[in-house]
Amino acid sequence: MLSVQEARQRILSYFSPLESELVPLEQAAGRALAAQICTTFDLPLFDNSSMDGFAVRATDLADASRAHPLALPVIGDIPAGTSPSLRVEAGQAARIMTGAPLPAEADAVVMVEDTDFNDRSAGALAPQNVSVYRAVEAGENVRRRGADLKLGQEILSAGSLLRAQDVGMLAMLGVANVQVSRRPRVAILSTGDEILPVELPLTPGKIHDTNAYTLSALAAQAGCEIIRLGVAADTREAVRQKLDAALLAKADVILSSAGVSVGAFDYVKEVVEAHGALDFWKVNMRPGKPLAFGQYRGIPFFGLPGNPVSAFVGFLVFVEPALEQLQGLKTVARPRRVRVILGERLESDGRESYLRATVTLEDGRYVARFSANQSSGNLFSLVEANALVIIPAGVTSCPAGAEVDAWLF
Ligand code: AMP
Ligand code: MG
Repeated sequence: MLSVQEARQRILSYFSPLESELVPLEQAAGRALAAQICTTFDLPLFDNSSMDGFAVRATDLADASRAHPLALPVIGDIPAGTSPSLRVEAGQAARIMTGAPLPAEADAVVMVEDTDFNDRSAGALAPQNVSVYRAVEAGENVRRRGADLKLGQEILSAGSLLRAQDVGMLAMLGVANVQVSRRPRVAILSTGDEILPVELPLTPGKIHDTNAYTLSALAAQAGCEIIRLGVAADTREAVRQKLDAALLAKADVILSSAGVSVGAFDYVKEVVEAHGALDFWKVNMRPGKPLAFGQYRGIPFFGLPGNPVSAFVGFLVFVEPALEQLQGLKTVARPRRVRVILGERLESDGRESYLRATVTLEDGRYVARFSANQSSGNLFSLVEANALVIIPAGVTSCPAGAEVDAWLF
């Protein structure tokens, strides 16, 4: 039987990064950056004040104190967004706002709290003179040009998943459009004569299509566009029609669920093999042992298990890494992996196991307790759970208190 690791390696060898596209910055969050971004100027771009106060020369204030305030004439006013032309000569001060450029010859800012001028109401005019209550160091309350970043520094590498702060950083650099990996187009197919679309009422023997919704949501969260193929009945013709629709819709990946346990599998297997190739693997894991992978007319094809929990786990274990690789993502973004302590003893059957659990923070540690019903058809147990605890292959028993990996969601 294949190990999870081997199966994943084989799958990943089929995927290389898609081409990139230019998108407006406001659409960039959650996308994979296609090319490295470097600064094109120093940040900050100019020396500026980090406080509302008075721009001064530090040497003038060496003797200032609360007992002996130093009075300075205020020669001007520097709001943020202006470019001051004034010079602060020895013994002078200029009122300055947070973010405003430091005027020539000034080397520090005294904050208003350290002066006798504390009128901060909107529109308050600068005083004629200001008395300063303390000495300042040169550079105090000044943000120097280039203190955060120098021209040419790398700020984001190719393959980064753009987060909110990354998008803000790009805006700071004036990057209005950003080159990101194209979204993979994922076609999702459900198979089985018992499966009804969600909008139809149940009739005897039927169940609602569940996997298409779970898998679509997962693929969308992974940055993909979804092509809904609907449900294929258990016939050769129905399966072929649906798969051809994926081709027509220019899918990059096909995700099919069910029909991969021995038996009804044959139609999917036959149709995919007739126009492509299919490997059918038993992977040493639970849930979700049967996994089919191959290509249909050149499109990578995943045949996930039919049971809703198995389909979910199969997606996270095999499909998510492939979708990340398609987008050229360099860091594994999802799901979030943490170390957890087992809150109870666990017997395992030696397969790599992805067990539904509830993880809580107790005394600063994540503690996992397993859902009682681990049946792979029991989707509610996954609804109640907030984690999958990963028990490695070969482990048959874990004492309470053992530390293992888990995916939190
Ligand atoms: P199969 O692999 O076709 O034998 O399906 C395994 C189990 O998963 C059966 O109980 C199916 O009814 C169920 N199943 C298959 N497809 C879906 C689906 N799209 N939504 C919910 N359950 C499904
Ligand atoms: Mg079936």
